Amino acid sequence: MKFLQAIIAEPPKKNSVKLVDVPKPVPRKRQILLQTLVVGIDGTDREINEGMYGTPPSGSTYLILGHEAVGRVHELGDLVDTFSKGDLVVPTVRRPCKENCINCQRSETDMCLTGNYYEHGIHKLHGFASEYTVSDVNYLVKIPPELKDVAVLLESLSIAEKAVTQTFKIQERLFWEAKRAFVAGAGTLGLLATMVLRLRGLEVYVAATRTKESLKARIVRSVGGIYVNVRETPIKTLKEKFDVVIEATGNVNVALETLNLIGTNGALCLLGIYREKRVCEQFDMVLNNMVLGNRLIFGSVNSNKKHFEQGIKDMNKIKSQHGNVLDRLITKKLNPTDFKKSFKPEKEDIKTIINFK
Ligand SMILES: [Zn+2]
Repeated sequence: MKFLQAIIAEPPKKNSVKLVDVPKPVPRKRQILLQTLVVGIDGTDREINEGMYGTPPSGSTYLILGHEAVGRVHELGDLVDTFSKGDLVVPTVRRPCKENCINCQRSETDMCLTGNYYEHGIHKLHGFASEYTVSDVNYLVKIPPELKDVAVLLESLSIAEKAVTQTFKIQERLFWEAKRAFVAGAGTLGLLATMVLRLRGLEVYVAATRTKESLKARIVRSVGGIYVNVRETPIKTLKEKFDVVIEATGNVNVALETLNLIGTNGALCLLGIYREKRVCEQFDMVLNNMVLGNRLIFGSVNSNKKHFEQGIKDMNKIKSQHGNVLDRLITKKLNPTDFKKSFKPEKEDIKTIINFK
C-alpha cells in the first residue's frame, strides 16, 4: 500500500493537528482521484483544531483536514466520463445526507433537511489536505486554467455567492432597487462578499478593526468599497441605513449592532456561528423595526455547486475589473511541513494556503 503526507486532526482533542502518513485512497465507482495542488486553511479548520468541531469518518480515529482545495484529475473511477485526466477542479464540501432528503436529491446539499449530511474535512468525510484525495464526480467543478492561482478562494467565494444570491432571490418579494450594502468583517469571506456586491453595482461599506492603511482596507478601496475602521467609527455611530447587510465576523456583539443598520425593506444575512452568549436588549424594538420596515433577517450556511459555478464567472469579472486583487488575498503560501503556521494567523494575514505540489 502507498502512503502519502496528510494534515490530520483528532477531534475533539485540542491542538491535535499534525502531518502524518496515511494510505493513498482508491477511487470507487463515480469517484475521481485528485492530485491535490493547494489547500486553503480557514476558521473552521482552526476550530476543529481547538476541539470545537469536526467528526472523523466512521471507522477512523482521525480526520484529514482541508475543505478548500484545488486539484488535478489523476485517475478516474468506473462510470466517470465527464472529466479527463489533467483537468483542473475544485471540489465542493458537502455531500448528500444518508436519507437523501428532498433537497439533497436536488443537489441542494447546503439546504439539507435532516442534518445527517457529510462534509469533506469537517464531518464524517476526509478532507483534501493530502497529496491525493478522492471525491464523488458529481461534486467537482472544472476550473479554467487562467484561474488556477486563485481557485483556492472559490470555496469561500461560493459562500458569498450563496449569501448574495439568496438575498436578491428573497427580495423578489417586493419592488426593490438595492443601492447600498454593509459588510461586517474584512476577512476572506467579507472581502469576497464585498467584491460580489460591487459586481452587482452596489455601494459597499466594509467594517473591520484594522487601520485605514492596512492591506484589508486597501483591498476594499481597490474594488471601489468604503472602508470603516470600527475602532475610530463604531458601527453604532453610523448614520447610514443599508438595503443589504452581511454579517461575516461571527461575533455576536457585531451581529447585534448590525440589526440597527437594516434600512426599510432591507435584509440582513448572517453568516457566522455565534458562540458567545449575549442578551439582546430592547428585543421588542428589534421586532417592531422588523415589522414596521418590512425588514428581514436570515441565515445562510455552506453552498452548493451552482454557487461555485457562479463564483467562477465572478472571478473572471473581478479579474477583468480589478486586476490581481484576488491574488492579494492570498497572503501566505506554506509547504506542508510548515503547515502549523496556518493555525496561528498573524495580523496582516488574510488567506493562508498550503502548496501540496
Ligand atoms: Zn439531506
